[in-house]
Amino acid sequence: MKTLPMFLNGAWTETADGAVREILNPADNTTLALVTDGTAHDATTAIAHARRAFDTGPWPQMRAPERAAFLFKLADLIDRDALALATLETRNNGKPLREAKYDAADAAACFRYYAGLITKPLGQTYEVSDPAIQSFTVREPIGVCGQIIPWNYPLLMAAWKLAPGLAAGNCCILKPAETTPLTAIELFKLIAEAGFPPGAAQLLLGPGPACGGTLAASMDVDKIAFTGGTVTGRAIMTAAAGNIKKVTLELGGKSPCIVFADADPDVALDYALFAIFAGQGEVCSAGSRLLLEKKIAADFLPRLAAASAKIVVGDGLDVRTEMGPLITPAHMEKVLGYIAAGREEGAETICGGHRLTDGPLARGNFVAPTIFTKTEPHMRIVREEIFGPVLAVQLFDGEDEAVRLANDTIYGLAAGVFTRDQGKGLRVLKKIRAGITWLNTYHPTFCEAPWGGYKQSGLGRELGTAGLDAYLETKQINLNLAPQRLGWFAGAP
Ligand code: NAD
Repeated sequence: MKTLPMFLNGAWTETADGAVREILNPADNTTLALVTDGTAHDATTAIAHARRAFDTGPWPQMRAPERAAFLFKLADLIDRDALALATLETRNNGKPLREAKYDAADAAACFRYYAGLITKPLGQTYEVSDPAIQSFTVREPIGVCGQIIPWNYPLLMAAWKLAPGLAAGNCCILKPAETTPLTAIELFKLIAEAGFPPGAAQLLLGPGPACGGTLAASMDVDKIAFTGGTVTGRAIMTAAAGNIKKVTLELGGKSPCIVFADADPDVALDYALFAIFAGQGEVCSAGSRLLLEKKIAADFLPRLAAASAKIVVGDGLDVRTEMGPLITPAHMEKVLGYIAAGREEGAETICGGHRLTDGPLARGNFVAPTIFTKTEPHMRIVREEIFGPVLAVQLFDGEDEAVRLANDTIYGLAAGVFTRDQGKGLRVLKKIRAGITWLNTYHPTFCEAPWGGYKQSGLGRELGTAGLDAYLETKQINLNLAPQRLGWFAGAP
């Protein structure tokens, strides 16, 4: 099997010491590919290329419409190869093909959105107190950007990072998760085909601490954009302090999906399932806590358990599959550990709660959709991000208790509310400390609208106009319209 390289300074490159990483299919743990496994030295090399590319151009100096043309071209190439990209994503990440197809389409849309946005007005003019001065701002790229992404949306997270970063004129180094580099490699083939100048976008493959850590600590990197776990985010923020890098962090969550008694029960049930079991629950914004109004629990929960038990779990490439395998055997063990902890702490499963090993499932990392009831707020399954198909149900009485439980978490990424009373829905959403909220829906995500978390779910926003702002500096320019001697120091001529 040929080793797949990384893409540094416009050239496909293998790490000098020859280290190779095996990439597995989570549906059966067979080897999909071998990829070069970079080192801190490779990260330093990529940074030096990016620094030179930024300082000498042509990418940052290019006019915005010209840069936009590269991004539009890339979006067209993603569309052209969408099915191949989606199929590869499913094989590497495990998610059902229907989900991976959405990711490919969303990735193309994200490049198009930022290609359009960068040609729109950016600066502002200011009426200042001195009539001789015209003050205005221009927006400029930040410089060299390290972009570190997780394994749950490998292609889409690459797009969320590269599209605004490149549109703004930065030179970007993308570091995918160790386990899921394959669609990023394909994306960079398309970047090469689109003809981006060397050093504008580079692909660095390798372990988090060595490669990502070097990006975060380097004095030559001007910004770090990170999506991943809160613990890693904290380490990155600390490492980035050396040269006061700009930092954006998209971190974990323990988001509530709140169902009031007056909600349409079928709609609420449908979305409650989607909120937790889409993407096997390996979704940062997953509705991993179902807050259910007590008076409907006796009707709602048996129906929820019955529907969950019918979810077809299997290889994501099988068209019947509705939920795929977890990313690695180690992650599956972690999720099973949480299920064991939930039982030990006294919660009860009303469905799932075990690994699936029937027939071919035995070779993969499959866990049954799992729902816990009889939970208490202090339990680990209620407090910690499990990042798997495990739902903790919490019962409440009335609006105030719903809000109190929803906010009883260190996280603040997302929340959904289901009710026929829109006033109540909006009241509750406004009291929830979270960055992304939905009324009578869950999970829809738009590249036009800002995405990010309150509290320990992150720092800054991606997507929307805020996502471009996060890749731009603001320069104030003041023009003296009537220059004359200042006369401040008497000795000056
Ligand atoms: P992770 O934090 O373990 O890894 C994410 C990335 O960071 C990987 O590329 C990894 O190689 C790199 N990394 C690891 N250690 C590093 C270090 N010391 N320095 C620099 N880089 C390092 O997270 P994961 O397990 O890949 O992803 C799951 C997490 O991501 C979950 O907590 C999830 O909630 C979060 N997530 C958040 C969002 C969001 O938008 N908020 C989206 C997707 C995933």
